[in-house]
Amino acid sequence: MLNFTIGPVMSSEEVCAVGGEQVPYFRTPEFSNVMLENEQLMLKFAKAPENSRAVFMTNSSTGSMEAVVMNCFTAADKVLVIDGGSFGHRFVELCEIHEVPYVALKLNHGQKLNRERLYEYDGQGFTGLLVNIDETSTGVLYDSEMIGEFCKKNNMFFVCDCVSAFLADPFDMAHCGASVMITGSQKVLACPPGISIIVMAPNAVERVTNAKVRSMYFNLADALKNMERGQTPFTPAVGILLQINARLKEIERAGGADAEIARVAAQAADFREKIRELPFEFVSESPANGVTPLHPVNADAYEIFTELKDNYGIWICPNGGDMKSTVFRVGHIGHLNHDDNTTLINALKDLHSKGKL
Ligand SMILES: *Cc1c(COP(=O)(O)O)cnc(C)c1O
Repeated sequence: MLNFTIGPVMSSEEVCAVGGEQVPYFRTPEFSNVMLENEQLMLKFAKAPENSRAVFMTNSSTGSMEAVVMNCFTAADKVLVIDGGSFGHRFVELCEIHEVPYVALKLNHGQKLNRERLYEYDGQGFTGLLVNIDETSTGVLYDSEMIGEFCKKNNMFFVCDCVSAFLADPFDMAHCGASVMITGSQKVLACPPGISIIVMAPNAVERVTNAKVRSMYFNLADALKNMERGQTPFTPAVGILLQINARLKEIERAGGADAEIARVAAQAADFREKIRELPFEFVSESPANGVTPLHPVNADAYEIFTELKDNYGIWICPNGGDMKSTVFRVGHIGHLNHDDNTTLINALKDLHSKGKL
């Protein structure tokens, strides 16, 4: 199997080996030390400001998006949601469910957010902003620095869903002034799904600590309190946390966050160069490194996904909803190299020669 989806992705041999071991009991000093090391490396790689904290949630990243909406905002807020694809729209739905007043800044699929458009909302009493830094459904990378500056100017609580951008695109939490950064185990961390990480700057720690949240599992103050000793309120996905530990240390040994970002960027650039000779159109105006969405000019996108899966053992990532037959995505994250890109391109060329593309 060769997996070019954007989660779960291919894991390194070391991460797979950890996954093959027995899962230990976790209320121990040994496991606490693993968790505290995970926290330190996460804060370092996110370039989080001093006195930031991280919690490890046993849920997919949508659970963390929901936890952040529930713990950081109330009916007294007025938040701006960047709604340029299915992940942006998820934040809109979460604000609806939890009755957080919001305005959706709608963008067309593939469209980037420019300064003029954002500043239409300047000085209008917004208290927070929710954005998916890489809107993975269309592969658009939003400018975290530009949005951060806008949030600072307007004194807004700035939430970044970096689920697919963390370690794929440059992101400096301290510099852009983000209050919260969310990511998940199955994207660039290249571990099995099941864990999502919420990094909180000091202003988020303070806000969460004083929140009155009507939830037991999604009580982030409780998660923060337990994490002071490297623990979680309830049984976490222990095995995946051990795999994350192996993976974070692997990244550190290979040069840290910037080296991993450069590796993903090179993997994306190599693919984008090689795909040019085939009949596809690029979809995104401001492409993120993690994923390349493509529009097949002569064929159905979902059929290409099925052909590659059934006849070549290669997985690309189909799109959902109204993009299902027009767009598929090729991921550049996880344990992949340039030769793997060539394998995929050769399979696509083969489909082309058979008139299926
Ligand atoms: C993958 C992803 C998520 C989370 O998806 P889950 O299925 O809940 O893990 C959220 N936001 C973005 C931008 C993503 O790429």
